[in-house]
Amino acid sequence: MEKGERVREREREREKICKRCKQTFTSSSNASSACRFHPSIFVCRRHDDQKRYYELGPEDPPYAAKFYDCCGAEDPEASGCTTSFHVSYDD
Ligand SMILES: [Zn+2]
Ligand SMILES: [Zn+2]
Repeated sequence: MEKGERVREREREREKICKRCKQTFTSSSNASSACRFHPSIFVCRRHDDQKRYYELGPEDPPYAAKFYDCCGAEDPEASGCTTSFHVSYDD
């Protein structure tokens, strides 16, 4: 490979897919606030004001709410409560 070709190769950055937010990004666009995500998973549990993180027991009524364990957002599409660098599958 010629020298000029190699430089061009580096400039044309490979797009990666973030395994957290599934967005495409390049190394140069990756910043500490580029990735919005939920550090915890979407769970199904009893959810009220006092006992937000109560585990559902066998006696519990079947009105368990679904929400993010990290911030309590009830919409699975809710934008992330934490920002960080994107993480590619190669890392
Ligand atoms: Zn991301
Ligand atoms: Zn969250």
